[in-house]
Amino acid sequence: MHKVKQTISRSIPYLGLLSALICLIISIPIALKTLKDYRIYQHYSTRQLEIIAQQSQATPQELQIIDISNQVHDNPLHIALITGHGTDIHGFYDSGAVAFDMSYEHTHIQYIATLIKANLETLGGAVTLFDENVYRNIKYHGALYDFSPYDFVIEIHFNASEHGLYSGTQIIYNTYNDSDLTVHYAVSNALQLITGNSIVYSDDEFITQQTIAQQGIPSMLLEVVHIDNQSDYTLYMNHQDAIAQAISDSLVTSLKAKEARSK
Ligand SMILES: [Zn+2]
Repeated sequence: MHKVKQTISRSIPYLGLLSALICLIISIPIALKTLKDYRIYQHYSTRQLEIIAQQSQATPQELQIIDISNQVHDNPLHIALITGHGTDIHGFYDSGAVAFDMSYEHTHIQYIATLIKANLETLGGAVTLFDENVYRNIKYHGALYDFSPYDFVIEIHFNASEHGLYSGTQIIYNTYNDSDLTVHYAVSNALQLITGNSIVYSDDEFITQQTIAQQGIPSMLLEVVHIDNQSDYTLYMNHQDAIAQAISDSLVTSLKAKEARSK
């Protein structure tokens, strides 16, 4: 008898802990459901968020906080954008090729990458921008990149040839990862309508592309146009928004189609 009493009194503090644990377990699905309800409020204006907040009895602040989180998209496409060239982890800067007007490839890459990122996000993609010299970081500094969270990786460059001889768009893939090239051809076809000339081909020498392919993640190296060629460069400078939009639209449309096929 005495022994039993002692056991009960000793277990009372644990009852508090147990009930706290039960409360926590019950509250997790409620919190998740609340979060799920707010998933749809992407890309709304401040005014729209106020109206939605009134309807759903949440504060606009609560909605705004959730709105900026990529994790709450419903089936988002996770896309990594790598800007070619730039600064490596030791501070070495590589400007890339020189354009017809003597501006640098890296400057143009950063600009169009910003446009593409914004477009992709508007289309519902979750975008990670690797604005660093991934190539040098891998080749010279042993950097390890994990591309496994992404549905697709796109590495952006502009091409240059001897004295501006060549023109057009080039899309390069690694043969290690060539089982499905529908995304590559979709982007190529979309760009061909603007640049007038676009090809898709394999080249296994690019280290960044090798690294991504060997992780089993589809990717492309996109050479937007030849920036040392006068007509390509002029065309690009006059159609930057349209080119960025064509890349983003074709990427999202073809990735969604690919995702639908795999279901
Ligand atoms: Zn380049």
